Amino acid sequence: MTAAPLLALDRVRKVYRREAEQVPVLDGVSLEIPDGEFVALMGPSGSGKTTLLNLIGGIDQPTSGDIVVAGTNIARMKGNELARWRSATIGYIFQLYNLVPVLTAYENVAVPMEIRGTPNAGARARALLEEVGLTGRAHHYPSQLSGGEQQRVALARALVLEPAVLLFDEPLSNLDAQLRNEMRSEIKRLHQRLGATIIYVTHDQTEAMTLADRICVLQGGH
Ligand code: ADP
Ligand code: MG
Repeated sequence: MTAAPLLALDRVRKVYRREAEQVPVLDGVSLEIPDGEFVALMGPSGSGKTTLLNLIGGIDQPTSGDIVVAGTNIARMKGNELARWRSATIGYIFQLYNLVPVLTAYENVAVPMEIRGTPNAGARARALLEEVGLTGRAHHYPSQLSGGEQQRVALARALVLEPAVLLFDEPLSNLDAQLRNEMRSEIKRLHQRLGATIIYVTHDQTEAMTLADRICVLQGGH
């Protein structure tokens, strides 16, 4: 007997509409990912990698097809329900950090927990920042932090609710080579500790080969 996959995409299609024009991007993507697997997603620029992450993360909806995450089909889930599901299940780390500029590193991590009424938000935020290696800079604003430090804060923030699924969209592509190496080891260690299921978009072969259990390539909508 094999366990049900944590994530199952079944014939997922996505067609964007631009005025009268239809832009087909995903043309029947089917994929199963077991619990805890680290999948690297590669493919040419414009092939739909970000689109696919947005569908899995419940930020956007497919034109047709099913997306089942941990037993829930989110393909036709709407509005508040989808937002609630997303914040409980998904951690999303973007290429451009997406931190709130008027909040310090510490506040970027603590405030989302305070809003949800998480007990001991302050202590947890400090522990998460330490976990991602951001020590001593917790009270700096994003503009006062390097790219690597900002991405560490974004990582800590994504871990706040211990999500079952972590989505990374070219998270290291703006960093220099040495920082990329450092962050790569950190992400590998986090995956081993958390056991989360990870989908990781990258253009970097080395990154994909050293991090992932499996590499999937998106091309021509498949
Ligand atoms: P990738 O991340 O692989 O570079 P994307 O998923 O960002 O690719 O984009 C795939 C294609 O979909 C591109 O041709 C892009 O222009 C188009 N696209 C992305 N978002 C939209 C949108 N909101 N409206 C219309 N077209 C879009
Ligand atoms: Mg992209």
